[in-house]
Amino acid sequence: MDLTFSPAETAFRAECRDWLEAHVPRTALPSGDTPEGFALHREWERTLFDARWAVVSWPREYGGREASLWEWLIFEEEYARAGAPQRVTQNGIFLLAPTLFELGTQEQQDRILPKMASGEEAWCQGWSEPNAGSDLAGISSRAIRDDAAGGWRLRGQKTWTTRGAFCDRLFGLFRTDPDAPRHDGLTYLLVDLRADGVTVRPVERLDGDDGFAEVFFDDAFVPDADVLGEVGRGWSVAMATTGSERGLTLRAPGRFMAAADRLIDLARRVAEDADADPQLQDRVTRAWMDAQAYRWQTFWTVTRLVAGERPGAESSLVKLFWSELDVRLHETALALLGPHAELVGGEFAAWMKGYEFSLSGPIYAGTNEIQRNVVAERVLGLPRK
Ligand SMILES: Cc1cc2nc3c(=O)[nH]c(=O)nc-3n(C[C@H](O)[C@H](O)[C@H](O)COP(=O)(O)OP(=O)(O)OC[C@H]3O[C@@H](n4cnc5c(N)ncnc54)[C@H](O)[C@@H]3O)c2cc1C
Repeated sequence: MDLTFSPAETAFRAECRDWLEAHVPRTALPSGDTPEGFALHREWERTLFDARWAVVSWPREYGGREASLWEWLIFEEEYARAGAPQRVTQNGIFLLAPTLFELGTQEQQDRILPKMASGEEAWCQGWSEPNAGSDLAGISSRAIRDDAAGGWRLRGQKTWTTRGAFCDRLFGLFRTDPDAPRHDGLTYLLVDLRADGVTVRPVERLDGDDGFAEVFFDDAFVPDADVLGEVGRGWSVAMATTGSERGLTLRAPGRFMAAADRLIDLARRVAEDADADPQLQDRVTRAWMDAQAYRWQTFWTVTRLVAGERPGAESSLVKLFWSELDVRLHETALALLGPHAELVGGEFAAWMKGYEFSLSGPIYAGTNEIQRNVVAERVLGLPRK
């Protein structure tokens, strides 16, 4: 594993740092999980796209720079370091796109990817249902064949759809053969949320933002052109997406390194109180070291990917690590702030908001209990019972 960057990579870092310094909005945008904030974030996505920073690793014809995985990591580090806005298009760009590149038809790629990259079409993930979260294969939303119309009619419900109320399209799993075994008979469909028969209802989150939606399907139509992969093989298509989500693309280390640097900054500012509690200093140091450790771990993963290996069950280990690291980082910040952490608004309010969101890390992208099962069985080879 090579831990040094080449002159070209160093130049790439300088280029993105300069651009971000010149363009990142001086005042933070409102939360992208509100209607107004989402609209402003979409404009920011367009700015990124116009300068070819929206999808750095994609082919040039779709708005990318054909950046290597290493350059992508560098971009993510610089993006987080600059305090740039959250990516409200991330579910499309980081989760659906890798699967589209691998398994989508040329027509699907040409039609979908440019609009995804520019933010014109924002995508959300339609996995979970009221009775299917950890047990994803338990989904019951149906897609019923409509030969005359050349496609599928959807019936059922999805839930916990992040930013579903603001997005344009949804990728999700639907049961096309109810008689097949649970993991068979599922199909991966790309759904227009504005289609007749689709109802989207916002659901308020703990922090008050309408960050979630429930999505109801009442005979909504999906044409055959919007089936991703083969009919009935949706489970394996979905697993390709899930590998990206847990493994690498959803949470690059730059995010945690930037948070750890802000934590160090905070510790310096409130040094007097922190001095009184050496354990607190220890927690700050550990959080920073863990963020660095995640970076080196990611370097190892990228080294293996570049060598042609695929992320396997180890992506569950990675998911466990970043989600628990995020909680520790924010808990430490709240401990440093003491009663100030509770203040609504003001210069420290972002830590409480960040803490509330970090609590969901062990739940989304597959709960940590499930990830521990995967590690036990598939990485360590322990028996199921
Ligand atoms: C912030 C956030 C964003 C999300 N965004 C999306 C999204 O965009 N799209 C989407 O489809 N979903 C989304 N989800 C939903 C998320 O994927 C599910 O909440 C998650 O998969 C857990 O499913 P569940 O809520 O049904 O809980 P359950 O599956 O009912 O689990 C409840 C508890 O039981 C434990 N448990 C269940 N089975 C086992 C087992 N076999 N062994 C050990 N423990 C077990 C779980 O770990 C958990 O602690 C989001 C969730 C959050 C918090």
